[in-house]
Amino acid sequence: MKVRQVTINAQPQTGLRLVSRDSKPEGTIVEVEGIPIGGEEIVVMAGPCAVETLEQLTETARSVQAGGAVILRGGAFKLRTSPYSFQGLGNEGLKMLGKVKTNTGLPVVSEVMDTREVENVAKYADILQIGSRNMQNFPLLKEAGDCKIPVLLKRGMMATIEEYLYAAEYILSRGNPSVILCERGIRTFESSSRFTLDLNSIPILKQRTHLPVIVDPSHGTGQRWLVPSMAKAAVAAGADGLLIEVHYRPEEALCDGSQALYPEDFGLLMADLRKVAEAVGRSIYSPKQA
Ligand code: PEP
Ligand code: MN
Repeated sequence: MKVRQVTINAQPQTGLRLVSRDSKPEGTIVEVEGIPIGGEEIVVMAGPCAVETLEQLTETARSVQAGGAVILRGGAFKLRTSPYSFQGLGNEGLKMLGKVKTNTGLPVVSEVMDTREVENVAKYADILQIGSRNMQNFPLLKEAGDCKIPVLLKRGMMATIEEYLYAAEYILSRGNPSVILCERGIRTFESSSRFTLDLNSIPILKQRTHLPVIVDPSHGTGQRWLVPSMAKAAVAAGADGLLIEVHYRPEEALCDGSQALYPEDFGLLMADLRKVAEAVGRSIYSPKQA
């Protein structure tokens, strides 16, 4: 009897017309205010989980900038598991981000969670963040795809890499080529950390797509002490950037304080990251002197 050969684990990417490496062998560089994301240099974005007050945002932004971060993160709209948790300052938070951007010169990444808010968030943010819980919010992906500014798309905590790439395809298929992928940990049976940071996904994504891949070791671990190890591991594994939560007073944070680095620890981590980057033939991006 003739046995038909079956290829197990074949990964046809028939539907990934725009995001697959086959369609574009060279890596995409997403430029944000002159900062190239996806090139040889590794871009560090840092800041608080949520915008809380102008003082908190200003102080934290100044400290991460001093440490070497070149993009400020901060959520004005927060997707929280409990409806009773702090939901973010909304528009007030966006205005604070705008102010701190003007004062520090740091471009801003901030989350958008509602199709009706895309245009508004895009007025203040330089990168629109789509969170893990919205990775398959297809109307939101389409709206972000109609937008002209870069999108930082986080991996759904229960999404396969294939599903993740299809989510990115939605954005590209609407005409926005500037998508940055962000591994932020997935749900597994393991309960000793908040999520399991899937470091495998870095080389796998880099192989399958031309889009830049960054890593969020803060949500990927949920615990401050684990963040430096995973940040260094991510750079060693080929990440094009990092998204790190830092708070000027983590014990007072309204959101995710247990995973927020103290500013001093962020500075120390940056020094280590420079060495790891060099060991893998890369460097950490820093603003060029005019
Ligand atoms: C965040 O970056 O603040 C955030 C909520 O992340 P995630 O969507 O990955 O949970
Ligand atoms: Mn957070």
